[in-house]
Amino acid sequence: MDNKQQGKTRLKDARKKKKKKKKKRRCAHAACRKKLLLTDTACRCGETYCSAHRLPEVHVCPFDYKAFDKGQFIAAAGLGGGVPGKLVTI
Ligand SMILES: [Zn+2]
Ligand SMILES: [Zn+2]
Repeated sequence: MDNKQQGKTRLKDARKKKKKKKKKRRCAHAACRKKLLLTDTACRCGETYCSAHRLPEVHVCPFDYKAFDKGQFIAAAGLGGGVPGKLVTI
């Protein structure tokens, strides 16, 4: 019977809805839930929003952009891609 399969089912899955065939992509904004287009890409926070809520300010994005930008800058500088301006001499 189904006993084997049930044994493999994780507890996490049990908490979710039973039927989840294709999960339709919708705006993650609580008050929106608008259907997303294929061209809509996920925000850096992992959620996908419609064009109206895509901006981080609008959906109060939890992503730490400041830290990210810093990391980007350091990574870019670390590559030695010719940073204009100051030349560091040893
Ligand atoms: Zn939306
Ligand atoms: Zn976000």
